[in-house]
Amino acid sequence: MNEQPNLYDLALPDIERMLGEWGQPAYRARQLYRQLYVNLADGPAAMTDLPVALRERLATETRMGVLELARLQTADEGLTRKALFRLPDGAVVESVLMVYPDRATVCVSTQAGCAMGCVFCATGRMGLLRNLSPGEIVEQVLWAAREIKGLRVKGRGLSDQHRGTQHSALTNVVFMGMGEPFANYDRWWRSVERLHDPEGFNMGARNMTVSTVGLAPGIHRLAGESLPINLAISLHAPDDALRSEMMPVNRRYPIAALLDATREYIARTNRRVSFEYVLLQGKNDDPAQAAALAKLLRGILCHVNLIPWNPVPGAPLGRSERARVLRFQQELQAGGIPCTVRVERGVAIAAACGQLAGAPVGAPLTIEP
Ligand code: SAH
Ligand code: SF4
Repeated sequence: MNEQPNLYDLALPDIERMLGEWGQPAYRARQLYRQLYVNLADGPAAMTDLPVALRERLATETRMGVLELARLQTADEGLTRKALFRLPDGAVVESVLMVYPDRATVCVSTQAGCAMGCVFCATGRMGLLRNLSPGEIVEQVLWAAREIKGLRVKGRGLSDQHRGTQHSALTNVVFMGMGEPFANYDRWWRSVERLHDPEGFNMGARNMTVSTVGLAPGIHRLAGESLPINLAISLHAPDDALRSEMMPVNRRYPIAALLDATREYIARTNRRVSFEYVLLQGKNDDPAQAAALAKLLRGILCHVNLIPWNPVPGAPLGRSERARVLRFQQELQAGGIPCTVRVERGVAIAAACGQLAGAPVGAPLTIEP
């Protein structure tokens, strides 16, 4: 395999050490770090404030990133952009950029594949290939930040509906792509710290959200972290029998244990959590189940996000009809639980978890018109 260090896998002290060994003055490390995370340089050649010899040495002895864009799909007139990346070992991961008038969000992967096996999820069907490194997670975010720069430059071809409405910078990061972040906690958290660093990429903690399948130890751990990032928990069912059928992890951390961890998290952090609930026709979308859910969540500082299911080929499940979604929402709200229905982006390119990676990778690249 490749022996060259990936610069995005190095924290500032690692860069300081490396450049120190190369005999560079101390301030060079910060210069390089700023090139990576502030200027978003796309290679050593672009780092014109570094001496040519150093740029050349970086080019031959390190790598700047490992993600190879295998496919790009766009929807919503280019404001939704979904990338499939191939890693050097052949594993694939995906990221989705969604640009709105008031914000721009990137959804990134934390693992290639996932071991959790949720029945409604395309990634779950792949199994776990491997954990991503901090740099591999961070690099997906840098991709999105560069894409936005490109959009701003182009800003053309948009209909009246979208013209002039795209936000000009990346404002939010959600760890809701492929994989379970808490099953790769240490590496994932290093990516959060790197992205947050005010000397570097400077993404506000409150603009980052992690979604977990419900690994209670991870929730406890997050409660003790100093950065106040947002927490979303995938619940998807109001009772253990149904949740275990949909999400095998529930046998290990049943609903009571999950909600105990959640209450402790809220008590320690004073922060509201979100519960995600994917609606499946005739499975978990009955008004009686909404009432049961409202009862379950009563007294917890939370918000429920109802997610229309993105069909996964071969899964014997159905997407709830719109009327059932709205009925479910009404019932939850009547039970006193704040609740929204997720606005869908890029339905045409199935912007859900793991669905692009499931498609044949050899297929032709789709580039925006
Ligand atoms: N592993 C984490 C984060 C990645 S999945 C988790 O499970 O929370 C992000 C969200 O997408 C989860 O709420 C997950 O349940 C949901 N999801 C998975 N497959 C989906 C699909 N086909 N349609 C809609 N949402 C899906
Ligand atoms: Fe993994 Fe999340 Fe998909 Fe479940 S929903 S299989 S935890 S990525």
